[in-house]
Amino acid sequence: TPEGLRAVLLKDGPAGFAKAVRNTPGVLITDTTFRDAHQSLLATRVRTYDLAKVAPFVSHTFPQLFSLENWGGATFDVAMRFLHECPWERLETLRKLVPNIPFQMLLRGANGVGYSNYPDNVVYKFCDLAVKSGMDVFRVFDCLNYVPNLVVGMEAVGKAGGVIEAAISYTGDVSDTTRQKYNLEYYLKLADELVKAGAHVLAIKDMAGVLKPEAARILISALRDKFPDIPIHVHTHDTSGAGVAAMLECAKAGADAIDAAVDSMSGMTSQPSLGAIVASLERTKLDTGLSLDDVSRYSAYWESARQLYAPFECATTMKSGNADVYKHEIPGGQYTNLQFQAFSLGLGDKFDEVKHMYREANLALGDLIKVTPSSKIVGDLAQFMVQNKLTKETLVDRAEDLSFPKSVVEFMQGLVGQPPYGFPEPLRTKVLRGKEKFDGRPGEKLKPLDFEASKKDLEERHGRKLRDVDVMSHAMFPKEFDEFEIFRQKYGPVDKLPTRVFFSGLDVAEQTDVEIEVGKKLAIQLLAEGKLNALGEREVFFDLNGQMRSIYVKDNEASKDIVTRPKALPGVRGSIGAPMPGEILEVKVKEGDKVSPKTPLFVLSAMKMEMIIDTPIGGVIKKIHAAKGTKCAAGDLVIEVEP
Ligand code: MN
Repeated sequence: TPEGLRAVLLKDGPAGFAKAVRNTPGVLITDTTFRDAHQSLLATRVRTYDLAKVAPFVSHTFPQLFSLENWGGATFDVAMRFLHECPWERLETLRKLVPNIPFQMLLRGANGVGYSNYPDNVVYKFCDLAVKSGMDVFRVFDCLNYVPNLVVGMEAVGKAGGVIEAAISYTGDVSDTTRQKYNLEYYLKLADELVKAGAHVLAIKDMAGVLKPEAARILISALRDKFPDIPIHVHTHDTSGAGVAAMLECAKAGADAIDAAVDSMSGMTSQPSLGAIVASLERTKLDTGLSLDDVSRYSAYWESARQLYAPFECATTMKSGNADVYKHEIPGGQYTNLQFQAFSLGLGDKFDEVKHMYREANLALGDLIKVTPSSKIVGDLAQFMVQNKLTKETLVDRAEDLSFPKSVVEFMQGLVGQPPYGFPEPLRTKVLRGKEKFDGRPGEKLKPLDFEASKKDLEERHGRKLRDVDVMSHAMFPKEFDEFEIFRQKYGPVDKLPTRVFFSGLDVAEQTDVEIEVGKKLAIQLLAEGKLNALGEREVFFDLNGQMRSIYVKDNEASKDIVTRPKALPGVRGSIGAPMPGEILEVKVKEGDKVSPKTPLFVLSAMKMEMIIDTPIGGVIKKIHAAKGTKCAAGDLVIEVEP
């Protein structure tokens, strides 16, 4: 294996690594193909199986990379929820296959890899375990650029021995001097605070791809002048189509490293094309040191691997880049998500409206930096506004009577952090209606997690010894971890299955080889499927290493019963339905309860957001039509209140 920058990091530590980066001629590249590219294009669905296959090639062919981004962001929970694989095992597997290139991950400051604030000791322990599992460079950001949140993540990374790449989330347009909020002074001041707080590398995280080439020139040259010694690393998305141009400007203005995705996984909401950047800088003083031929071979692998993920393609609805991102500023990953959600909700024709409303929602919230989780708050509010036919103005007028998404309420309480320009009034007061407000760092007062007690409890619950990394997965995502653990005990290591078989199963007579450990292979052939029995199961016959076997498998699709529910009566104020399709998480009242207006009735989880539904009138709970766990369509009757 040819030596890469990781050798410098292991020998000289993060400070030595930063020095070596500054002294490298040309511009360095971070390959995002293993993380952000598929998070942006394929709903984060790429499996370890397909990453591991090409990892040795990357290790041998691209040792000059600044880093290989392969962890964090949405990969952590998607691995457990949808791929039924352990995110830590992915990291460990890739580390063995790529010992020479620094690994890079995205860390949401005090949110770790989750969506809420965790006690500080969880963030520290997370970073410690990540470094031990093979992580090197941590891009630490906060969705409001709230420094106290950033510092928790930065200090945790530093203590664990990782490279602290402190990221400024970029929004607005520094080349437009009429824009007051996120101007050059704002970014320079923030950069100064992060450098003083101990950053080894300074990152500009342009999560939506709104950094225009001219803005890139202005911002990066100003940072370069002010901080001659610290490496500058820039991340962008190609949503508008100007990604390559912007990255070339960054390199010219003095950035040390830029992010790109391999050609066949680049463009649109993903990163700009690696091949295009490599070719554009060939034989200039900014040469990347990578060969275009090698990039093309790498691209060929992904071109075919990508086809396995066709069902998750954002390209089924997205056909081109779109410069309206400069208006709505939706981050790359969220853009594909929102589009997918709009289509699956039957709001496909309303996607334009959702985008427009996203801008309105952002302004209503005071013009925020939009990246997970603040982007979700804006997105939740935007969808809420579309569903309830609200404008920025009527939203404020009617705020006191509306049941806002939980994420919006928590944001207004200060549970995410403090936005740089304060909270919007009178909206905040109207949303909170007397609920408690928090001024400081949200994680500050959280009780430390008792890790050992949690481990003991989990081991008892799941009936087996667990690793520390499992306890950490649970700390970040309790429900997702528990479901994953139950699944893995029941079905075994499904991450070893080839991808097509994993997603769609075997056809009759099809055979597949599964390598469960080195040199240990199972040959599985599906022979036949029996009829559906009364329990909703089928007997499935297959050949396993030459032996006939059969098992009963529940056919979830065939046994699903179809239920239609009564609808809430339009115009009847006590007939309270689900405002959006979703699942009832909790019913807060019982039949016969007396309620006054605005009493919370139930909690609905819809499209990854939670909302509390209040009663608009006082009265008595006459009947509860949908219990906890019920999946409702929009308009399904949930509770009747008799005035
Ligand atoms: Mn990104």
